[in-house]
Amino acid sequence: MNEHIPKSHPRHRSLLLRERLVHGLEAGLTSRAGLIAHGRGEAFDYLLGERTHDFAREAIAAASALLWTARHPVFSVNGNVAALAGEELAGLAKAFPKLKVEVNLFHWSEDRLTRIVDHLEGQGIADVLGLGETEDLPGLESARRRMDRRGIASADVVFVPLEDGDRCEALVASGRKVITIDLNPSSRTAQRASITIVDELTRALPALQAQLVSDRGRGEEELVWRRTIHDNADVLRRAIERIRQGAV
Ligand code: ATP
Ligand code: MG
Repeated sequence: MNEHIPKSHPRHRSLLLRERLVHGLEAGLTSRAGLIAHGRGEAFDYLLGERTHDFAREAIAAASALLWTARHPVFSVNGNVAALAGEELAGLAKAFPKLKVEVNLFHWSEDRLTRIVDHLEGQGIADVLGLGETEDLPGLESARRRMDRRGIASADVVFVPLEDGDRCEALVASGRKVITIDLNPSSRTAQRASITIVDELTRALPALQAQLVSDRGRGEEELVWRRTIHDNADVLRRAIERIRQGAV
């Protein structure tokens, strides 16, 4: 699929992600609007120097603590996440089996939902949710209000990368803790989430996986402490400051 992108190309990784998305569009996983949302992310990644900063590492450590101490954590997958990071998500789910995976779509169709579920299960993720009985998340009009009874409906912690602000707000208002990955520290999602990882999705997920593995067996008290002292406003302030410094 991507052998025509030379490894030496300075934007190799960025081009590879574009290829994954275009491929996802062709396979019916991603919507056309999803390509545009990706462009917004790319612009911020450029300004952040396309690397994982200390403020993202700090948020990843807090996210690991919140996930380990959660009762029922659920990872919410949209079309872009499915196309970009199926493999990375499969790695995460394997390292942290307590995590349930649920598909949630803005441009909803049963056909697209089924394709994404099949795609993720094909990557080795067991029992992907989203097609079962649902309940509505209060305060949200679009199809994204749907919550699988066995998934987000009964979750205490929801991981929603690349999300639109209104759903993040509704999830927080419902009393759930929300972890997000969002390259735009000023977005409503980034501002409203309990923990915001300002980093590119496919860089952040393997970093989180490594953190979850290193936290395995760590004492509950230490994890609760780490989760409690996390200062998301400070993380966002540092990310915005980094963008202000310029792209170099
Ligand atoms: P909000 O509604 O939260 O104010 P928005 O309307 O910009 O934000 P969307 O465009 O719906 O939100 O969601 C996409 C978000 O995901 C954007 O903030 C974008 O910067 C971010 N994003 C896109 N691609 C990636 C990626 N690969 N990794 C991390 N973040 C990404
Ligand atoms: Mg929005």
